[in-house]
Amino acid sequence: MQSRPKVVIVGGGISGLATAHYIHSRVGEDVQLTLVEGGSRLGGKVANQQFSGHLVDTGPDAVLVRAPAMAALLQDLGLENQIVAPASLGAHVWSRGKLRRLPTGTLFGVPDRLWPLLKSGLMSPVGLARAALDLVLPRRIPSNPDPSIADLVAPRLGSQVFDRLVEPLLGGVHAGRAAELSAHSTVPDIEALASKNRSLYLGLRKMRRHAPPASGAPVLVTLTGGLGLLVEALTARLAADDVRLNATVRLITRAGTGYRVELVGGQNIAADAVVLATPAYAAAGLLLELAPDAATVLAKIPYVDVATIWLSYRRSAMGRRLDGTGFLVPPEEGKLMVGCTWSSAKWPHLADDNLVLIRCMVGRRGDRRWLDLDDEDLVGRVHDELVEAMGLTARPLHQSIQRWPQAMPQYLVGHQDRLNALDAATHHLPGLHLTGAAYRGVGLASCVADAKRTAQDVTQDISQARADVRPLTEVTS
Ligand SMILES: Cc1cc2nc3c(=O)[nH]c(=O)nc-3n(C[C@H](O)[C@H](O)[C@H](O)COP(=O)(O)OP(=O)(O)OC[C@H]3O[C@@H](n4cnc5c(N)ncnc54)[C@H](O)[C@@H]3O)c2cc1C
Repeated sequence: MQSRPKVVIVGGGISGLATAHYIHSRVGEDVQLTLVEGGSRLGGKVANQQFSGHLVDTGPDAVLVRAPAMAALLQDLGLENQIVAPASLGAHVWSRGKLRRLPTGTLFGVPDRLWPLLKSGLMSPVGLARAALDLVLPRRIPSNPDPSIADLVAPRLGSQVFDRLVEPLLGGVHAGRAAELSAHSTVPDIEALASKNRSLYLGLRKMRRHAPPASGAPVLVTLTGGLGLLVEALTARLAADDVRLNATVRLITRAGTGYRVELVGGQNIAADAVVLATPAYAAAGLLLELAPDAATVLAKIPYVDVATIWLSYRRSAMGRRLDGTGFLVPPEEGKLMVGCTWSSAKWPHLADDNLVLIRCMVGRRGDRRWLDLDDEDLVGRVHDELVEAMGLTARPLHQSIQRWPQAMPQYLVGHQDRLNALDAATHHLPGLHLTGAAYRGVGLASCVADAKRTAQDVTQDISQARADVRPLTEVTS
């Protein structure tokens, strides 16, 4: 009897788990699937913990459900009743000594109306006048075929929109700097806006006019039990023997027409198809022998270290009304904090009569100051910044730090060329797939969409493998 094709997924973050889920959904038990995770738990960056009486996320804390794959996955996993929307309070930007309202309706900082920009107090009159010049400036074709976000935004809207809106929003989501990030790969909407329109401002208004009417449903949500529920639900779909924890892969090599997945410690797993769902730098190491050119490209995708810091305060310590979901901090302010979420105000399930839960993020490309601080000093510095921004009158009751080394991949200018080079360097290796945050979208929704595409490619490999019986060694020691 023909044996079932073997698929090995390396990496048990959301990308690996979702790939396993979609493969199972497509071909059921017709494949022998093994998910190999180096750590002692599944979920990767998706992680949570008990903090001040609440279950809180220490990695991602929200998902975009505008993306169809993510919305469908939550429904498929039976999690739709756990979905919770953030309070619609708006956010702030900490700029020139004050928290100022983030104007509503911007696309990654590109405004579609000047009035909210004026009202926010973020711009000086000169900055506002400069932003308005976008209406009349002639079209400008960037010299770089893969322009940075800065190349597209700053010459049209001026340095204040760029420094006080675009930079903090990018810092908050990508931990990156707009002068380095590829617009095409990081915020394709801005690239499309710039390539199709002379004025970004008018182009955004036109785009919004032609967009289908908003359904009123929130675009960014979380789950009442935290995003760990997503990991739990995906894990529940896997059989226990599908998963191997504390199993770090050290190398992938060729074995006949398939692959040998070599684990640290000497075990090997035979595979007809392999999905690498690890960060790019880890995939680089795994492909050193099999595809050295691909390894070189993968090693060029840089990552930024970040940390989340949870602090809880007595309500009475708040120096201001929590009239928002938190604030972002532009790099020009020179602070350690990149952003701060007033989680008790933002998420209804984290509201607490006595306490306020605050989640702060540190770490962005080019700023490694916080890495020299031990936990106590880091909390001290972040608390001092909160005192300055929010007028807090007491120290935190509880604190918790989660450091995430090499966490946020950066889609620098030239990212698409690197992906093309990667395709070329792995083209001769059928059945080998790369998926995850390093390639086509950093957010969970993009990882899930990429996992879905990857699962489709893997099942195509499987159909081919069925047509061509390949005896492979069983798991060997
Ligand atoms: C602090 C923080 C906040 C974020 N906030 C948000 C947010 O609010 N919303 C959002 O959408 N996104 C957010 N993101 C981004 C998002 O969480 C990540 O991009 C996504 O979780 C990455 O998933 P992944 O599966 O691709 O990679 P990972 O989660 O990194 O998983 C990769 C897995 O591979 C394993 N691995 C690595 N090497 C090996 C090996 N050799 N052998 C076996 N296993 C290996 C690792 O142990 C890990 O479990 C945030 C990220 C961070 C760090």
